Amino acid sequence: MLIRLFVAILLAFASVDALAQDRPNAPEIATKTSKVQTAMGSKFMVVTAHPDATKAAYDILNKGGTAADAAIAAQMVLGLVEPQSSGIGGGAFIVYYDAVQGKLFSIDGRETTPIVASPYLFTKDDGKAMGFYDAANGGRSVGTPGLLRALEKLHGWQGKAPWRDLFQPAIKLAEKGFTVSHRLQKSLQKEASRFEADTQAKIYFFPDTTRSIEGGARKVNQDYAATLNHIADNGAASFYNGPLALNLVEKVRKNKKVGMLSIEDMTEYQAKERMPVCGGYRGYKICSMGQPSSGALTLLNTLGILEHFDLRSMGKDNLQSWHIIAEASRLAFADRNYYMADPDFVKTPDTLLLDPLYLKSRAALIQHKSPMQDVRHGVPAGWVASISQAQDASVKPPGTTHMSIVDGYGNILSMTSSIENAFGSRIMVDGYLLNNQLTDFAFVPNDKNGNPKANRVEGGKRPRSSMSPTIIFDPENKPFMVIGSAGGSRIIGFVLQRIISVIDWDMDIAQALAAPHIVHRGKKLELESSGVDMAEPLKDFGHPVLVGEMNSGLTAIHFKNGQMTGAADPRRDGTAMGR
Ligand code: GLU
Repeated sequence: MLIRLFVAILLAFASVDALAQDRPNAPEIATKTSKVQTAMGSKFMVVTAHPDATKAAYDILNKGGTAADAAIAAQMVLGLVEPQSSGIGGGAFIVYYDAVQGKLFSIDGRETTPIVASPYLFTKDDGKAMGFYDAANGGRSVGTPGLLRALEKLHGWQGKAPWRDLFQPAIKLAEKGFTVSHRLQKSLQKEASRFEADTQAKIYFFPDTTRSIEGGARKVNQDYAATLNHIADNGAASFYNGPLALNLVEKVRKNKKVGMLSIEDMTEYQAKERMPVCGGYRGYKICSMGQPSSGALTLLNTLGILEHFDLRSMGKDNLQSWHIIAEASRLAFADRNYYMADPDFVKTPDTLLLDPLYLKSRAALIQHKSPMQDVRHGVPAGWVASISQAQDASVKPPGTTHMSIVDGYGNILSMTSSIENAFGSRIMVDGYLLNNQLTDFAFVPNDKNGNPKANRVEGGKRPRSSMSPTIIFDPENKPFMVIGSAGGSRIIGFVLQRIISVIDWDMDIAQALAAPHIVHRGKKLELESSGVDMAEPLKDFGHPVLVGEMNSGLTAIHFKNGQMTGAADPRRDGTAMGR
């Protein structure tokens, strides 16, 4: 223990860079506790990022509701108690397993860009990229929210309980009051100035001008209750048409940083069914969210490369294991940054990137003795480029929430939901916050040579995401694991590490979630402070290393011997409940 502490202090002052440099003032902090909260059950299970949301979902499941019903109830509560991360002003990706039909599907509820937006939405007059918060705070970054249309679709296909009933737990809490979490209070530290441009948000979060709402205090949100009542009675469509839509559009357009969102953007919005992307890893079938999320393709690309290495024999405490995982991630991120974007706007190689021969050729680039000098995107067989493209490796500070649910019928839901940065655009309307999801686009549309970036802004397009709601089946095709996380583009690494921990290293799910994060997104190896003893050896090996806190929000369910174990990330407030 003492030695660890000593090494940590040394590193803080010495050679390994601190991770904080990578995310200036990112407010969505990791509020670390030491324990993973777990629950066991054989009938149903829910894990969300907040106890009130978990409880709302549990009650629905207990009354015979489906995973879809439970997710809607939990999500409406999250929009109240964890407003910094997700809500009806944002978007979501859902991967769902329908146990009766044995069918897997996914829903893309990603925000869309205002139809009139140009590729230069986030460039300054000199053609350079705006600063992140210049772009994120205010109307400019707000995309058409997709969450409610996605949940409406899900409920239409998989709901059993009446739509209206699913809003009641959140309405009750909003009217009678909920307990402000210490995490929410902490997230508001240093935020006061960012809310200056929006009076509603400022008064809600900073009733005492400079002092934020306090952890442990009771708080009501009558505006949110009224909004939910309206949507509960009139359906999701009433959010996209009528007074709620008009208020939203007006708020975005009247903001000092004028946004372009219009009522037509709202009425035209559609959640899309997409094929989940599945791939094999050591006999398991791993399914996650396809484009416009880069989650599934990057995760499966990395795992496909790693299949060529015996991580099990090497073990989790072996420097070589982490070197190889880092190198595989670098290769996958090079493909991600070059190719992946909204497939309705850009031709991308998509699952050609998962071709076994291609992945074998990528694995062959990894050397055991040192990191690769130069990592570039590959060209999978069958790929004919329609445009020349350019890398977009931009890294954005994260927000977001993930929930994992299994219902009493065996249906499974994995949903990641987000307003992007913590507190989104910092604009509040009718009791909820609006997203800043458009900052997930490349800020500068072309590279130095004028080649367009796949993930450049275009009217109507959905920004590339990293959200990775994942469902895994064992070699007998039985459900094995449900998992996902918050954490921006680190999400992919967080999920990857837990898949390896459980499948290759036989860790139980609680151990896997608690293990220190080690992530590579292409530029540097990032280590959580608690994993600091690996930092110097990896640095000596030639990897650029950053150490610090990482704001993940993993929730997972692991199936074993007829039992489910639900587990919530110890870095956040999440809980698991099951029966
Ligand atoms: N906007 C990010 C994405 O779609 C999510 C932000 C986060 O996870 O914190 O990938």
